[in-house]
Amino acid sequence: MKTKLNYALLMTSLSLGLAANITHAESTKKAPIVKVSAEHAHKTIHWGYDGAGSPKAWPTLKTEYVLCGSGQRQSPVDVYSSKFANLFPVQFNYRDVVLQPLNNGHTLQANYTDTVTTKNSVIIGGTSYPIASNTKKYSSSLMLGDVPYELLQFHYHAPSEHALNGQHYAMEVDLVHRNADGNIAIVGVFLKKGTHNKVLQNVLDNVSVTINQPRIIQELLINATDLLPNKRDYFYYNGSLTTPPCTENVNWMVMKNPIEVSEKQVAHFIKLIGNNARSLQPLNWREPLGSL
Ligand SMILES: [Zn+2]
Repeated sequence: MKTKLNYALLMTSLSLGLAANITHAESTKKAPIVKVSAEHAHKTIHWGYDGAGSPKAWPTLKTEYVLCGSGQRQSPVDVYSSKFANLFPVQFNYRDVVLQPLNNGHTLQANYTDTVTTKNSVIIGGTSYPIASNTKKYSSSLMLGDVPYELLQFHYHAPSEHALNGQHYAMEVDLVHRNADGNIAIVGVFLKKGTHNKVLQNVLDNVSVTINQPRIIQELLINATDLLPNKRDYFYYNGSLTTPPCTENVNWMVMKNPIEVSEKQVAHFIKLIGNNARSLQPLNWREPLGSL
């Protein structure tokens, strides 16, 4: 219970700075009523992917979740190639970091922080001295045009949340970034069934089965570059977080080319988390742009 609240708070804090730009579309429809049996009525229903907390009920669970129902720029969507444009160049500066896996009950993720302890040391006079941690040396970022966005975490969905020309993939990994103004940019990468995926295996092997118990695996370095396809063509559109509070004005870049994951790994993920994909949302007036 606590876990899920914490996650909601995290996502809320991620979206700080966006709120001012968001205009809510007034909804004239009444929110659907969630039926709760009498003996459970005193309990708070937490968001999830099935049962009383399923995506259809998200807007009714908390007032902060209203955009999950009334938002007009929601994610995920079906990306397709009809318009191509010279999109801003995206430059990835992903470095090796110590693996910090987390099972938050909704997904498995790897966290990035500025205070990653590294094993760096300096040798003076034959003695090895550790260099102070709390260094930004290992933080990862991307440049969207000339604006730096820091990588906060990446997490997985099964099946993929986005679709490409109506086609879903076995999984999707989302790399969540934030700039100094609090704006969010997420890079989504499809995973198709094929060969074993090293990064996911590291997460599966080291994550705690206990919900919300973060770990730091000092001896294991990962690099988010390994999650990117070799060809970096992408679709850009303006969307939202795909989990409550469904905050809008998120810069989405969905990679056109998938990476691979083995069938066994998909099954392992689903065994731990279950299916965790929100359904496709209407594009409304939006049209994803394909990079040239
Ligand atoms: Zn996601």
